[in-house]
Amino acid sequence: MTSEQLQALDQAHVCHTYARFNLCVDHGKGATCYDPEGKAYVDFSSGIGVNSLGFCDEDWVRAVTAQAGKVQHISNLFYTEPCAVLAQLLCQRTGMEKVFFCNSGAEANEGAIKTARKYSFDKYGRGRQEIIALENSFHGRTMATLSATGQAVYHNFFFPFVEDFTFVEAGNLAQLEAAVGEKTCAVMLELVQGEGGVIALDPDYVRAVEQLCREKDLLLVVDEVQTGVGRTGKFLACEHYGIHPDVVTIAKGIGAGLPLGAVLFGEKTASVLGYGQHGTTFGGNPVACAGGRVVLEKLDEAQLALVREKAQYLREKLMQLPHVAAVTGLGMMIGIELADGKEAKKVVELAIEEGVIPLTAKSKVRLLPPLTITYAELDQGLEALARALARA
Ligand SMILES: *Cc1c(COP(=O)(O)O)cnc(C)c1O
Repeated sequence: MTSEQLQALDQAHVCHTYARFNLCVDHGKGATCYDPEGKAYVDFSSGIGVNSLGFCDEDWVRAVTAQAGKVQHISNLFYTEPCAVLAQLLCQRTGMEKVFFCNSGAEANEGAIKTARKYSFDKYGRGRQEIIALENSFHGRTMATLSATGQAVYHNFFFPFVEDFTFVEAGNLAQLEAAVGEKTCAVMLELVQGEGGVIALDPDYVRAVEQLCREKDLLLVVDEVQTGVGRTGKFLACEHYGIHPDVVTIAKGIGAGLPLGAVLFGEKTASVLGYGQHGTTFGGNPVACAGGRVVLEKLDEAQLALVREKAQYLREKLMQLPHVAAVTGLGMMIGIELADGKEAKKVVELAIEEGVIPLTAKSKVRLLPPLTITYAELDQGLEALARALARA
């Protein structure tokens, strides 16, 4: 099928919830993919932070295909090795105690929200169910995670939303302290707001939030769906901040391309959810978990040190480009603030024409390259991006 035929077919039958860019992806290897006509593109998007090992990493392909040919699914009423092993690796890596597997970021956050309410119900009874989240946050598209998302554009059409979410300004500790009341059970945040514009929270603020949560017995829930699994140069962004949340959610990068999410529970929350109180058919799927195991094994400390080096290289090069006002974010989670009235969406459209795939986040151009990208691919992508900036 040509790109033209594919686009027509998709337009005719796929629900128009995505404003797709003019690009059909046929296959890829490493951080480079190809359209049906054979044109190459350097991928600075990783499918929004998903393809942590790039396209079709050989070890990942081997693990998932071997598992697909062994046992591809059995219900959660039974045990499978990939699920148990991945849970063990995640606990060892993060210091958390238990894992609930699901299929997406929103679903992981649903699990975290239910956990926060149940923890409080078990200990304090009814009425202590409010969750404080941050303005400009993004936590997903389900009813509860939309309700937890602190952006007015998402609070539309689908009324009524889930009750008892309240929002405070990121970085404003006094406002948070004032918002905590009898009803509050948890604080939920992203350490680097991704969809909100690639904005890293201030470390002193984050540590003060953790302290406040400890004092008031509020659960600290950190949404690492985008920041987790090596994206910021540490396995969890929490490590940059020196915090130990009660609940951490991950998704995107852990599956490396297959749908996989997880809720990680600390000491306080490890036994909050009991038999029959939460579940999902596909959670802990052996094929997805076999792939997740490869991600954890490949992203060792040496690989994460390389991620930090490459991120620094990319950031320095970006700062030298014309029409770049500032570079934000953390590690390989990069926001580019544009100068000279350049428009992010336009830059991305032209960048794709030039052979590199960036993303947008609000008014910024956003880069989430595969963690395994090579320096040659970084240079090639930067050159294409520079041409796009010049044309925009
Ligand atoms: C992408 C994202 C989500 C939602 O994940 P889905 O897999 O799309 O449901 C939630 N939180 C954050 C921080 C995200 O970046």
